[in-house]
Amino acid sequence: MSTRKPEGYLDGQPLHPETLMMGYGYHPKLSQGAIKCPIFQTSTFVFESAEEGKAFFELAYGLRKQGPNEEMGLIYSRLNNPDLEILEDRLTLWDEAEAAAVFASGMAAISTTMLTFLRPGDVMIHSEPVYGGTDYLIKQILPLFGVRTFGFPAGASEDVIAAVIGRAESAGRLAMIFVETPANPTNTLVDIEACARLARAHSGERRVILAVDNTFLGPLWQQPLKHGADLVLYSATKYIGGHSDVIAGVCLGPSELIGQVKGFRTILGTMAGPNTAFLLMRSLETLKLRMTSQMKNARYVADFLADHPKVARVHYLGQLSEDDPQHEVYHRHCSAPGAMISFEVVGGEAEAFRLLNALHLIKMAVSLGSTESLAEHPASMTHADVDPEERMEMGVTPAMVRISVGVEHPEDIIADLRQALDRV
Ligand SMILES: *Cc1c(COP(=O)(O)O)cnc(C)c1O
Repeated sequence: MSTRKPEGYLDGQPLHPETLMMGYGYHPKLSQGAIKCPIFQTSTFVFESAEEGKAFFELAYGLRKQGPNEEMGLIYSRLNNPDLEILEDRLTLWDEAEAAAVFASGMAAISTTMLTFLRPGDVMIHSEPVYGGTDYLIKQILPLFGVRTFGFPAGASEDVIAAVIGRAESAGRLAMIFVETPANPTNTLVDIEACARLARAHSGERRVILAVDNTFLGPLWQQPLKHGADLVLYSATKYIGGHSDVIAGVCLGPSELIGQVKGFRTILGTMAGPNTAFLLMRSLETLKLRMTSQMKNARYVADFLADHPKVARVHYLGQLSEDDPQHEVYHRHCSAPGAMISFEVVGGEAEAFRLLNALHLIKMAVSLGSTESLAEHPASMTHADVDPEERMEMGVTPAMVRISVGVEHPEDIIADLRQALDRV
């Protein structure tokens, strides 16, 4: 359930998120009439009286219940800051979440969330592959804190995931199911609804938390909370930021869970600063425009690649065949195929490298979701750390190239790929 403010409605009807991105949660009257929310570049906030300071701290530390019309006062920018709070209000609108917490990076969001809900002796299951930083956190860092983790392949059936839970539960108490969908770089989808059913079935006194990293398709094309996820995570560095100029992360969900995450965020100090929040608010104004333009461009690019004789295979959600079990999951979970395309050139690493080195317009860089198109070689770059055998099992071959399609004219993106493929 959303806790949208009265200004989010017109004549009793909720306004659309894209309409609200320009001003929701911000009152010009409080900032000299400035139409845009200024950057509150301040570490601390002045109390009007000792009594006020005391009241603010009572709420911050949960020493008493919040009054019906009482708002949490501003104390110190590690706890709260106007830019962060307004940005968080806006972020809730796309996913129809009750609450949001913004972080200094996607990894800060993921690690803080895991530390909030995992305890020594717990086990966590997760889809595979996941983002490299997340993979390291799961396999190298969580075990140091007494948390054991078990993977299941993205695309696995409910029965296979249930069997992995069975194995995990013989090692400890299941506390979290962590899912990244679509999986990078293969675009394989995880059935969020199946994971939600399993999380409920295995919840006892403590709820098994289903957390979904929705960086690739969200918040426009997939909304995991609507499919039973408890928490949604983002690297806001990608589509939400969208201009390759900011690192940030988000966690969204029910107020009760986000309150706990924010408690950990305050102490771990993983929040974003006001300047980052300002940049993200500016980015949110064009989020739908950018993601729609990128998605449309990607359709043209994927069609071009699928027809090219030097391309062996294209991994793109807009080209799933009807007899593929993924087709049904796609139609249940996603409203558009996004703008991430992986494809294999005919040949191997040498051919993939020749293509990458011949690109002019498309920049060779990791990261994704920005206005400019980017290309990279997963096997030797983003997934270089994955065990080579596992990498092949995941379908990440030496011939694979991943592209994040930007907002340029699609004919120019295709022309660049065409001339580069000619040199392969
Ligand atoms: C980039 C990314 C992350 C990590 O985010 P940072 O902002 O780089 O910390 C996590 N998950 C996915 C899917 C990503 O693409």
